[in-house]
Amino acid sequence: MTTIDTIVHDLEARFDDVALGHVRTWKQAGPNRLAIGCLPVFAPREVLWAANALPVFVRGAGDRIETIRGDAYYQSYICHLPRSMLELGLLGHLDALDGMIFPNTCDVIRNLSGVWQSTFPQHVVRFIDPPQTAEPASAAAYLRHELTTLFRDLCARSGVAPTAARLHAAIADLAAAHAGARDLANARREQPWNLPIDEVYLLRRAADSMPPPAWTELARAYIAAASARGRKPEDRIRVCLVGAFCEQPPRALLRAAERAGCYIVDDDLTVGVEPNGPDPTVGDDGDPMAAIVDAWLHATRPSAVRYDQHGQAGRELVERVKVNRADGVLFAAPSFCDPALLDQPRLTRVLDQHAVPYTAFKYSENTGQFQAIREQAGTFADSVKLWGTA
Ligand code: SF4
Repeated sequence: MTTIDTIVHDLEARFDDVALGHVRTWKQAGPNRLAIGCLPVFAPREVLWAANALPVFVRGAGDRIETIRGDAYYQSYICHLPRSMLELGLLGHLDALDGMIFPNTCDVIRNLSGVWQSTFPQHVVRFIDPPQTAEPASAAAYLRHELTTLFRDLCARSGVAPTAARLHAAIADLAAAHAGARDLANARREQPWNLPIDEVYLLRRAADSMPPPAWTELARAYIAAASARGRKPEDRIRVCLVGAFCEQPPRALLRAAERAGCYIVDDDLTVGVEPNGPDPTVGDDGDPMAAIVDAWLHATRPSAVRYDQHGQAGRELVERVKVNRADGVLFAAPSFCDPALLDQPRLTRVLDQHAVPYTAFKYSENTGQFQAIREQAGTFADSVKLWGTA
């Protein structure tokens, strides 16, 4: 096998490891190791990593298991993610985790945190409600208190000292991983024919549960091997994919959209492991927890699950279209996802003002039929190519 084949083969095996065998292996390879699950979209990864806890983003089960018991917990008119999360837990697939963090992403995840607490009492369960804005100043004090308590509690459990030095080292590791993620995004923007979306997606999903330094190394190896393929660009349009930040679309859907005539050059998949703005900056003598809090409060990328104080989400999307030289936008939202679906009108209003073409479809993580979406994406691509509009 070539280098790239080997990397992709390993990434596929890791992706299919829904029972988190690789997390178990990591925990057994050293003393005092914990693994903490995180729901989309916010996770204090620096704090977890500093406490000797591997941050493990759990983004549902996709189409890799059949959801039966999870369906019994929820009514039919909400998204699929909490059902497959419960199915994973009830099947014992999340037993490698010592706890779960539930951010205040939406009503569904807030509710799931309560269900989790009563269903899996062996887990440390934390509900984190990050401030939506940096004002008033008490927001920083509140978030600092939450993260400091979490840090101390996890350190007590793992048996390491809750020191500033550990936070400094974790910030450095995550900053290096973010630099790798930026390089990956740049490489895909420049040569999407060599870095297809389903491979890039696998690599980014690996970041969900890999130690950051190991992922940084893997990302560099993938970029080098994929860039060396020497494929020729095809006659496709370039698009930004928006709205898939929580429940993930099946990989096959991403592949179908690309094969229908699009290069997905930017997206909001795997939010939480991607840099959401500048990394925490702290000098050797600085206060690392203050830097982590500050980076969150001043994260620059607006999203559907964060109060958009200055109404910049639409403008920011137009800017992303320009930076990525995209021809249009694909809105891809999970069915019944209020945050993604309620966000669309304010975004499309600004796209209309700037004459940016777009189309929208919905999916579920276990969608098995892609023909309609493939036809829609194909028609969109043809329309943009022929007339410059949808
Ligand atoms: S998919 Fe949407 S509604 Fe469902 S848990 Fe995620 S953010 Fe909430």
